[in-house]
Amino acid sequence: MEGRVRKEIRRQGILAHNSTVCVAVSGGKDSMTALTLMKEFSRERRDIRLIAITVDEGITGYRSEALRLVEEYTDRIGVEWHCRSFNDEAGFTMDRLAPRERERTTCAYCGVFRRSIMNSMARDLGATRLVTGLNLDDTAQSVMMNIARGDMTRMSMMGPHERTVDGLVPRAQPLLGIPENEVLLYAIQRGIPFIRSSCPYSEEASRNLFRDIVLRLEAEMPGSRYAVIKSGMAMSEAPPSGRISRCAECGDVTSGSECRACALRTELAKVL
Ligand code: SF4
Repeated sequence: MEGRVRKEIRRQGILAHNSTVCVAVSGGKDSMTALTLMKEFSRERRDIRLIAITVDEGITGYRSEALRLVEEYTDRIGVEWHCRSFNDEAGFTMDRLAPRERERTTCAYCGVFRRSIMNSMARDLGATRLVTGLNLDDTAQSVMMNIARGDMTRMSMMGPHERTVDGLVPRAQPLLGIPENEVLLYAIQRGIPFIRSSCPYSEEASRNLFRDIVLRLEAEMPGSRYAVIKSGMAMSEAPPSGRISRCAECGDVTSGSECRACALRTELAKVL
């Protein structure tokens, strides 16, 4: 697995000369593995600044345990760590939002704010790349979700990013070609610490449906995860159907006049 990850890092140009690489670390097996390998592969590189970043969504038990683990681990392996919270950046926590009457699933709000905060953290830290721990299965699920929703703008903004868009730190995925169960085995075998509990709100995630679809597809048609990703990449190379511009409210990258996070902020003001 290490050889394939190293090859993917080279292919995506993640450790280019004089890079500042932020790794988004949630405390799960994928991001902790990605961080471990990025640290090992950049150990001899004095021109690389490696930083771990975490977003605290405000989920008691689940996220607080992960924060402790990430803080301890980054300290142990000698990686600078930064954390920002939904509470400070967006004025709410997922624990406060979850019991309220609302239009969307908890994950629909959580994902949008987490991506937005991760991007602004990486941008503020001067990152040239934002590394996520997304593996083969995650990426195939995202492609399927975008197709099912007909969301070609989001498809065109999916990582890994080969083009740069002003204001959006290019995302990279060193584990892109690695199946989820292989990452799990690797993390266990190497003794990489990770949280094993699931988010208490994950039941609502529409991703669960696509996880089942991708697993079924792969079982019936081995290799289909790679084929799905290849199709997604071909689609994302096409120009986005909508224009890419800046949000009038916060300046983030968006396909309309307002970014999703600002649109949801207005919606949340009525809910919270
Ligand atoms: Fe957020 Fe949903 Fe993930 Fe929980 S499962 S951390 S609510 S996106």
